[in-house]
Amino acid sequence: MNTLKVCILAGDGVGPEITAEAVKVLKSVCNAKNYELQLTEGLIGGCAVDAEGIPLSPATVEKCRAAGAVLLGAVGGPQYDSLPSNLRPEAGLLAIRTKLGLFANLRPTKVFPILKEVSPLKNKIIENGMDILVVRELTGGIYFGEKGVTEIDGEPSAYDVMMYSEYEVERIAKVAFEAACKRRHKVTCVDKANVLESSKLWRRVVDRVAADYPNVELCYMYVDNAAMQLMRNPSQFDVLLTENMFGDILSDEASMLAGSIGILPSASTGHGTLGLYEPIHGSAPDIAGKGIANPLATILSVAMMLRYSFHLENEALSIEQAVEDSLFFGRTPDLADTAYPAKTTAEIGSFIAERV
Ligand code: ATP
Ligand code: MG
Repeated sequence: MNTLKVCILAGDGVGPEITAEAVKVLKSVCNAKNYELQLTEGLIGGCAVDAEGIPLSPATVEKCRAAGAVLLGAVGGPQYDSLPSNLRPEAGLLAIRTKLGLFANLRPTKVFPILKEVSPLKNKIIENGMDILVVRELTGGIYFGEKGVTEIDGEPSAYDVMMYSEYEVERIAKVAFEAACKRRHKVTCVDKANVLESSKLWRRVVDRVAADYPNVELCYMYVDNAAMQLMRNPSQFDVLLTENMFGDILSDEASMLAGSIGILPSASTGHGTLGLYEPIHGSAPDIAGKGIANPLATILSVAMMLRYSFHLENEALSIEQAVEDSLFFGRTPDLADTAYPAKTTAEIGSFIAERV
């Protein structure tokens, strides 16, 4: 019998609401297939600061390491904004990725046919389609480089260092090329090589990795142009490979093309099978506790978990199909369309759990 060990880190804001729905769906899949589901729960982010004084305790890390996969809601909220940066909820998120060695963040961005009308680029998307996989480097770059405040000629100043090693670039580039082999065989590497030394290193390493994948087309694009091209013609992209901060920004931009930030999942993986799965959105404090958060991104993250960490492709597909069906059944306000009934977070979750 298959045993699935999953650690749930619900986090803050809408995190508990959306993970509750994703767990409903996960339980339903396991029931239907007679898989044993072993769930554990841990604290991360603001709720961990409140309970334990730090955003990520060693106990939570241990629970994650003991599991086959981690499902995370979201962290953060305005009440934590004045904390020093090492105690901020986001520090917990950065730390768990590093501690679990999760250097690759995969963000599939496609548009469900029924949502083409919701996308701000509807005509373009209806004509050409959009199916992009953003492969974002997750444990290096400017988010992790040395940072500090200082004084220059008596003027208060601050700095953040963007640093990459060849090894860090090589391992993420391989993830992108491997993914492209299973897709449309195209990698667009996004950087700012006309200005940044780190981008020049990226190009040298990515060129080298590309030599091992002669059947994958490689092109380079500056990040400012990529931001524009995403709006102009998103169908030109297959796999979009980029460093940590550029990936953060571009994937939020791409998410809007899909209709809502509330429907896009992500997987963070490393060298092993342990992965961390989470929606690409944040804790959405403005709508927390109202029962209106869209649970689809988190439910789709469970599909990615089943696919990548547990190699259950059919079960992943059944969740993805049920999510698509749910868009006809009803929607949360972020996808509002008068043709479809308004539903709560829990109603959507229950519909999908019954359907899978
Ligand atoms: P982070 O820095 O953690 O990525 P953020 O500042 O980018 O967070 P989010 O928490 O992602 O912000 O919220 C951005 C906007 O998207 C908010 O208006 C929020 O209400 C909305 N939003 C985010 N997630 C959802 C969701 N699941 N359903 C509906 N709306 C959402
Ligand atoms: Mg964000």
